[in-house]
Amino acid sequence: METCEVLIVGGGPGGSSCAAYLADRGIDVLVIDRERFPRTKLCAGWVTPAVFQALGLDPRTYAERYTLQPIHGFRIAVMGRRVREVNYGHAVSYGIVRSEFDTDLLARSGACVRSGEPVQSIERARTGWVVNGTIHARVVVGAGGHFCPVARALGAKPGRGEHAVYARENEHRMSTEETQACALRGTIPELHFSPDLKGYGWCFRKGRYLNYGLGHEDSASLPQRTNTFFETYRASGRIPATIPARFHGHAYLLYGSSERPFVSDRALLVGDAAGLAYPQSGEGIRTAVESGLLAGRAIAATRQTGGENPYSADRLAPYAAELRRRFGSPHGANYWLKRLPQSLLPGIAGKLLTTRWFAQEILIGRWFLARHEDASIQRGHHPH
Ligand SMILES: Cc1cc2nc3c(=O)[nH]c(=O)nc-3n(C[C@H](O)[C@H](O)[C@H](O)COP(=O)(O)OP(=O)(O)OC[C@H]3O[C@@H](n4cnc5c(N)ncnc54)[C@H](O)[C@@H]3O)c2cc1C
Repeated sequence: METCEVLIVGGGPGGSSCAAYLADRGIDVLVIDRERFPRTKLCAGWVTPAVFQALGLDPRTYAERYTLQPIHGFRIAVMGRRVREVNYGHAVSYGIVRSEFDTDLLARSGACVRSGEPVQSIERARTGWVVNGTIHARVVVGAGGHFCPVARALGAKPGRGEHAVYARENEHRMSTEETQACALRGTIPELHFSPDLKGYGWCFRKGRYLNYGLGHEDSASLPQRTNTFFETYRASGRIPATIPARFHGHAYLLYGSSERPFVSDRALLVGDAAGLAYPQSGEGIRTAVESGLLAGRAIAATRQTGGENPYSADRLAPYAAELRRRFGSPHGANYWLKRLPQSLLPGIAGKLLTTRWFAQEILIGRWFLARHEDASIQRGHHPH
């Protein structure tokens, strides 16, 4: 039986950030992922600068090797209505390609990685967990995304009783002709909100890649709504007619919409496994990275205190408290939006989105860029 102190299930941004924090401190950590990297991850790949800050990564250095699309603003509209452009005139955010970004983060973590190995069984043992019958770990971190097997072992039931956001999207590598014919600017992604403000369609150019799709809190007829949005958008002529209407689906939880536990005896959940994505924008990379680092810090701190089981739920509880401090009370998220009479939303949405102040300061500045929030933790930071 292979043994390790910490086993991280999932090598996405949440898992690799946690692994990096622990490996930096010499803690014996193993990451296991069912995929071999580079692997595809359905995602628009839009990241706020705080992600680079948290990871101690310089965007200019990153851009020397990988796709990094600076974002200066957004074109926004309620679907089918007048478009407003918010342009800050300098980089306020970035676009990355997930297969590149995730592979780089995992390699940089410095942790041992077992890839191409799905976690199929996870059982409690007296002094930890036994995974796939072959690995013993004293504590596990569930970083396996929405369907994470650790989250399931702690009682999560994806698809049953959880209120997820559903998304369909495609990332298309444009030919040289398509690149030339594409009117969409990489620096200004386009967002088209549904009138109930519970989702949006997007089209985002990152170098040669075009990423487009639709996400919404209601899964009813999503394939059809995605096609309608895309066909209308393509017919506007902003992207070439050859861009395919081909989509793949995925679901994930917005913060405040689930009851998944953040900690249990000898276990913690991070990122999508814990249901942490920002409720207004759906941004989940930042919350995965920050929660991964916070989980690493909690493990490192409690480990130092020793005792028979340093990883009891009580001793890991500061991690849950830290998440609530960082992201707010789960049930406070989007509180005011949920309380508004639903029949008023379409009218309100149309008015708000065409108001310059609201579009720039609230919708983009606060909800999409979260400019008022600093990174809560950094990879290289050693607390005293
Ligand atoms: C269509 C779409 C668009 C999005 N766009 C954005 C965006 O633009 N910006 C943004 O910030 N967020 C976006 N998100 C959300 C973002 O993708 C997630 O919040 C983020 O990837 C969460 O990171 P994670 O590390 O928690 O999980 P993941 O990135 O999902 O990583 C989980 C890892 O676990 C592995 N795994 C799963 N099951 C097992 C198993 N049984 N055994 C072993 N390994 C396993 C997987 O292979 C995977 O590598 C989008 C999501 C969707 C669906």
